[in-house]
Amino acid sequence: MRYRSTARKAPLTSLRGAVLRGLAPDGGLYMPAEIRRHSPEELEEFRGLPFTEVCFRVVRPFATPDVPEEVLWQVVSEAINFPVKLVSLSPGLHILELFHGPTLAFKDFGARFMARLMGYFVRGETRPLTVLVATSGDTGSAVAHGFLRVPGIRVVILYPSKRISEAQEKQFTTLGENITALEVTGTFDDCQRLVKQAFSDAELNKHVWLTSANSINIGRLLPQMFYHLAAYRQLPVASVPLIVSVPSGNFGNLTAGIFAKRIGLPVTKYIASTNANDVVPEYLRSGEFRPRPATATFSNAMDVGNPNNFPRLLDLCRNRLEYLQKEIWGHGATDEETLAAMKMLRDKFGYITDPHTAVGVLGWEAYKSQHPEPAQGLVLATAHPAKFADVVVKAIGTAPPLPDRLAAYLKRHKLSLPISSSYHEFKQFLLAP
Ligand SMILES: *Cc1c(COP(=O)(O)O)cnc(C)c1O
Repeated sequence: MRYRSTARKAPLTSLRGAVLRGLAPDGGLYMPAEIRRHSPEELEEFRGLPFTEVCFRVVRPFATPDVPEEVLWQVVSEAINFPVKLVSLSPGLHILELFHGPTLAFKDFGARFMARLMGYFVRGETRPLTVLVATSGDTGSAVAHGFLRVPGIRVVILYPSKRISEAQEKQFTTLGENITALEVTGTFDDCQRLVKQAFSDAELNKHVWLTSANSINIGRLLPQMFYHLAAYRQLPVASVPLIVSVPSGNFGNLTAGIFAKRIGLPVTKYIASTNANDVVPEYLRSGEFRPRPATATFSNAMDVGNPNNFPRLLDLCRNRLEYLQKEIWGHGATDEETLAAMKMLRDKFGYITDPHTAVGVLGWEAYKSQHPEPAQGLVLATAHPAKFADVVVKAIGTAPPLPDRLAAYLKRHKLSLPISSSYHEFKQFLLAP
């Protein structure tokens, strides 16, 4: 498979080139040059195969010939070594729990796969590779854990000071070794800006070999197709039209959903479920794309005012608003609605969700209230409720049980380095030996 840029001014490259670069040299995002469709028979066959085998078959066309099959098999089986669970709350409402990986959030899929892939691509290189990542919460922990002790790679994580939960912060600021966390006085958008600026700084790039682990990296998006397929395999009835609600911030997860549809997954519509940062739902409604500074909400991993995967969504829909509208429906929820939905889910179904998943449920409910035709809703549950215990307490009065994995991190000592949001300071840090 060759990869092209969404801006179409950069040469085609290999998977290795696309993964190691992150961003294309013309500023665009890498896309597979073509997407092979699996036949309905093949998809049916997937239902009977072990999950690892399905993931392998899905990703193989995207990784050939860069990655030998035995290496790819190893990457897939080591990265995706935890379950995807489907919980049916009612015949029409299913929750896909994507939070059974080591950092209890769906980003484990992308980060673990990409870390192993990059580890393979840098074998034999003499310079160390620096992976830069800006996080509004869960990316940091997933990426840090994915890359911990991968030889030849150091990871630098930027996160907005005091804007993420302690549980999130402790998971990636306490590891040490090849992982450094920078605590930035500013917002998530500041962190993203610093990372972008570093990539476009030609002088810096002469001295430091940089790449990105944000969801702009195609190596993170490919494995996110896996659980869209997993959901399809586990649905009790596949014949009722399927609507997939994706709690969204940077729109990597939804982009991967559209990839999954392009390889043949029968999804009728995706719902772009956001919090008050509803730039994409607004675009779908009005045709106007107006990025703006992020607003802080309870579902803070989705506090993104300028979603970085938006060019990919446009590209997948041939840059036409009406095609986007055909495939994606948008909804933005307020914090009050989010708390109320969390309470409703507990009271009605005895099911405790984190605020991001609740935003997804709200998107599905809003869709359903305007589309009475028969359909089943699948909501992606993106984080374990214990990661957002403070919000859960606000919503239902009690904290969810703390998984052992998370409890262990809370006891550890934070090792992050404080920096301002000035690019100069960040650059000096990167250049320091
Ligand atoms: C990152 C994240 C999201 C948003 O995913 P995108 O791919 O950026 O749209 C939603 N929920 C949680 C818990 C996250 O960590």
